[in-house]
Amino acid sequence: MTQPTEPSFRESVDLMFNRAVALMDLSPGLEEKIRVCNATYTVRFGVRLRGKIQTFTGYRSVHSEHKEPVKGGIRYAIGVNQDEVEALAALMTYKCALVEAPFGGSKGGLRIDPRQYDEHELERITRRFAYELAKRDMIHPSQNVPAPDMGTGEREMAWIADQYARMNTTDINAIACVTGKPLNAGGISGRVEATGRGVQYALREFFRDPRDIEKAGLTGTLDGKRIIVQGLGNVGFHAAKFLSEEDGAIITGIIEHDGALFSEKGLDVEAVRAWIVKYGGVKGFPDALHAENGAAVLESDCDILIPAALEGVINLSNAARIKAPLIIEAANGPVTAGADDILRNKGTVIIPDMYANAGGVTVSYFEWVKNLSHIRFGRMQRRQEEARHQLVVDELQKISEAMGNTYTLSDRFKQKYLRGADELELVRSGLDDTMRIAYQSMRDVWHARGDVDDLRTAAYLVAIEKVAASYRAKGL
Ligand code: NAD
Repeated sequence: MTQPTEPSFRESVDLMFNRAVALMDLSPGLEEKIRVCNATYTVRFGVRLRGKIQTFTGYRSVHSEHKEPVKGGIRYAIGVNQDEVEALAALMTYKCALVEAPFGGSKGGLRIDPRQYDEHELERITRRFAYELAKRDMIHPSQNVPAPDMGTGEREMAWIADQYARMNTTDINAIACVTGKPLNAGGISGRVEATGRGVQYALREFFRDPRDIEKAGLTGTLDGKRIIVQGLGNVGFHAAKFLSEEDGAIITGIIEHDGALFSEKGLDVEAVRAWIVKYGGVKGFPDALHAENGAAVLESDCDILIPAALEGVINLSNAARIKAPLIIEAANGPVTAGADDILRNKGTVIIPDMYANAGGVTVSYFEWVKNLSHIRFGRMQRRQEEARHQLVVDELQKISEAMGNTYTLSDRFKQKYLRGADELELVRSGLDDTMRIAYQSMRDVWHARGDVDDLRTAAYLVAIEKVAASYRAKGL
């Protein structure tokens, strides 16, 4: 018997797209226009390092320009290739549409193992890559705005922003050419944690509707739910930290590149992260069982599985053995199209990547708006809001005194009510609202349409409809 073959990441995205458009009434021409990737630029550049020239290959792919700028992260990984970058760019188009961030979809990647280079070398490589992209307007505040992804973070974004500014000395909006920058270099509070925070808000919204909880065969709330996380990087760490610290979830498993940790009573996420930073992996961490074969732990018993590392980790070879009734795709493309079929037939509920990790691009959107308006969120209103609240509190106090002090406002209430929102609170509020509304739009389709039996198809339906509406309005 021949084994069924696994589609590539891009084929997976296309298959999922096709499943959704089969349920829609789009003209074939429009369907094709939305599906295809508009352009992919490949660049090969040399950097003199350690006494010799090393050549690097990078990509920037633009999937759809129905809205501009286009937006999407830049990834540093040795496995980066054109197919992957194009699939990720397509996902960005749908993701931005779903969460109503006014961008088209793009993605970039550099084929590199960042662990092989020191900081100074990485800066030179990053600046050179940024130069190659910027001179072709593939980094530009009104055309193409990158962000961090796997293997990149605030540091790389600051170098990119500075490189662009050096090349465009009179562009007053230069700082808006990239998001995910450090706070002191034009960033926004809450961006680093945003994707993990978005995963938390997504799960909270899931657990607000008893119908959704029942579909996954679960009961109750997030409190006490056993969670396994794969990848304790930016996304996985923040998701695991917030869910365990604020929602009472128990992180029973953490899978990293060098194996997995397991503890029924729950792992201390901060401590594991500190261990990884110090020793480069999870091996040797005390107070937990260690498994050499990390991938096998994906199949362990738990309530919620959060793949937050790489794509394709749940595939035809292990999908049938996955026990988690609920999977939230914090990473991009962790479940292949083949595995998706198997899991759907088993009744596993999957909260799809397009939605689940959209917290990053949502807060990137806020950062871009902040950069263009050249002012921190809350700077104008905060104290005025506090003064108005003080008026109300003083008035209530007077009424209370007039009534013989039968009721006084609690200190806790006054403390919370009197504080005007700072930027971080506003960012979290905007993110929470975005994640709730986007989830509700998928949920409505999921429950209302008899021909949609999963959240991924629902997400594609909502997103594609928005992109199609945009093309129709343009007259394309
Ligand atoms: P990251 O580089 O910070 O973290 C990735 C983590 O995965 C690292 O800790 C790494 O050691 C671990 N890892 C690598 N190979 C592994 C393996 N085989 N098994 C287990 N763990 C492994 O990356 P990130 O920014 O957290 O991104 C993770 C995923 O989330 C990617 O798919 C990315 O596209 C997606 N994503 C990230 C953002 C963001 O804002 N950073 C936004 C949207 C989506």
